[in-house]
Amino acid sequence: MLPCLISCMQAKGNVYPLDSKYVKAEELNAKLDKIVQIKPELAEKRIIGFSSAENLPVYALQLGNKNAEKAILVIGQHHGEEVIGVNVSLALAEKLLNNYSQEDKQSHLLENYQVWIIPTLNPEGFRIVSSGIFRTKRKNNRDTNNNHKLDLRTDGVDLNRNYPIFWDMDSETEINSPYYKGSEPASESEIQAIIALAQQENFALAIFLHSSISGAYSEKIYLPARSNDSELFQKTQTLATIYAKEVKKDYLKGTYEVYAGNTSEVGNARNFFFYRMGTPAFLVEIGGQNKRGQSIIHPANAMLEKIVEKNVQAMLKVFEELEKRKKEK
Ligand SMILES: [Zn+2]
Repeated sequence: MLPCLISCMQAKGNVYPLDSKYVKAEELNAKLDKIVQIKPELAEKRIIGFSSAENLPVYALQLGNKNAEKAILVIGQHHGEEVIGVNVSLALAEKLLNNYSQEDKQSHLLENYQVWIIPTLNPEGFRIVSSGIFRTKRKNNRDTNNNHKLDLRTDGVDLNRNYPIFWDMDSETEINSPYYKGSEPASESEIQAIIALAQQENFALAIFLHSSISGAYSEKIYLPARSNDSELFQKTQTLATIYAKEVKKDYLKGTYEVYAGNTSEVGNARNFFFYRMGTPAFLVEIGGQNKRGQSIIHPANAMLEKIVEKNVQAMLKVFEELEKRKKEK
């Protein structure tokens, strides 16, 4: 029997090569320029670093008032096959800029915060998956076995295990594993770029979008490891709960849930931002399970658009709460 990793991806409902509404790697730069043009006075395209193997730019959109003290971070993608978050993060940028002139709450957001949106932190994995080359490319393209060619199934480092936090505790040292944590903490230039940005900005919130193949993690929100009753942890949980309640599941009844158990003590983004930077940080596993329990992470256009819309709305709700709390202080 095929493991779920493959059989789930081939479930009816997944479309590969990706349907037409997915942003493809070769379109990303032009798409970002187009978004900046919505409100050029409030938006800038930035390059925060370059990828480890192919030196591809890691693009960011810097939105809002550059004098604002605080910032918000949204990363649309760490894992190559998890492409929905790229579309969600770009739609969020469009929404924030389009809403700005109206007399509504979002206008205040871009006055009081800089919003950094990084559609993909893994431009190498994104290139492979979005170009139709290989649908389950997860890691970056580092030549981990040093054979001077790209082995699509095995090469690369799992970028969401390479952050310099709890890295020693992670047992993923096998280079061919899809979860390989890298040769040392922050060995990957993509992660070095994010660390530099985190040290430069004062992030009040960080959200990381994923869409897991396995289905076991679908439609849940994951908090940093080692849950505790600190004010920071409680705030993170409150913001994550607001997000979860806002998003209806794609195929099943109910809404997203905040995962209640202990989460991984590995070098992932949420642990880094929470424990190293003191930033409320959580991960959202977008992409639903169908009624047969198969995960659908490359849905056709119509479902993709629904997913994008509801996740953008959820983030706007979370930002409203953040604003409210800022004013109360
Ligand atoms: Zn992921």
